[in-house]
Amino acid sequence: MKRFQLIVLLGSICLSLAALAGQAQEKREYVIVVHGGAGAMSGLEQNAELSAHYYAALDSALDAGAAVLDRGGKGEEAVLAVLRYFESNPLFNAGIGATCTAAGTFELDASIMRGQDLSAGAVAGLKHVKHPIEAAYRVMTQSEHVMMAGEGAEQFAREHGLDMVDDNLYFATPKTLKWVEQLKRESKKNGTVGCVVLDKAGNLTAGTSTGGMFKKKWGRIGDSPVIGAGTYADNASCAVSCTGHGEYFIRHAVAYNLCARYKYLNEPVEQAADYIIHQELNAEAGNGGLIAVDKEGHIAMPFNSGGMFRGYLYKEASTGAVHRQVGIGKNMRP
Ligand code: ASP
Repeated sequence: MKRFQLIVLLGSICLSLAALAGQAQEKREYVIVVHGGAGAMSGLEQNAELSAHYYAALDSALDAGAAVLDRGGKGEEAVLAVLRYFESNPLFNAGIGATCTAAGTFELDASIMRGQDLSAGAVAGLKHVKHPIEAAYRVMTQSEHVMMAGEGAEQFAREHGLDMVDDNLYFATPKTLKWVEQLKRESKKNGTVGCVVLDKAGNLTAGTSTGGMFKKKWGRIGDSPVIGAGTYADNASCAVSCTGHGEYFIRHAVAYNLCARYKYLNEPVEQAADYIIHQELNAEAGNGGLIAVDKEGHIAMPFNSGGMFRGYLYKEASTGAVHRQVGIGKNMRP
């Protein structure tokens, strides 16, 4: 080998090693990523008081998930704990605080998926189930079905002993009630919630819960309860939860699309997520974002909207050090 060729060869080996070192990531004992919806969020970060409420809520959601994983719980239990928390917090468009339909009612959708065996559960159009994510979980674990809607889904939830509410207005807040009164005035509420987890056993889980889109009509159902669109998890690739204009997320099968790019094109999770959110979708045709974690604990949280409530928490396997961050706009919390 000539001297010149040897230098080139050594140079490229050094470059590859440097690239590998750049990609290398310490092993993570577990990872939790949450979102609380995407949207315009204009001026929210500048409103210190209101943004502090959102930051605190995102922190509490991460804490709820970490508490489960720290005591050795499974990823699916952590996802349930996080989404139950969000469904109880009126700041978000899920459970209490859900946005209203054109008829002034509240119709809730949710789904959960387990990456270990691809089992999944989804519910749509619920009006009286306190925690839709619990109903989705029961569909996954206690029925032979994947998706149930409307009255049948409510009957299933009742028969499985879930907490029910007599009055659909249970899900209303002073703010959403105002929208019901003034339905003709355009108004939106961002705040679909989602959670993806890589647990200590290496299992991936994804879950999503929402009130859907403001003024939705005729039993409209968005992407959130559609497995492969708003939610997907597969231990061979990633766990994904989406938020945004659901019709586009269904057409582009966003959650599965990401897993497929990761699995078949060998794209890193961030690259696959960015491609879908910024190239296949965009702020006009598919406004929104997603959260994802891959089987090695790499995280992606892209959005093409003004902002997305989001956060992550992970624990390093070797040191036990915990890293966490939450954000609303382009930057994470300062
Ligand atoms: N994706 C939800 C839906 O279309 C709404 C949202 O995430 O804001 O129902």
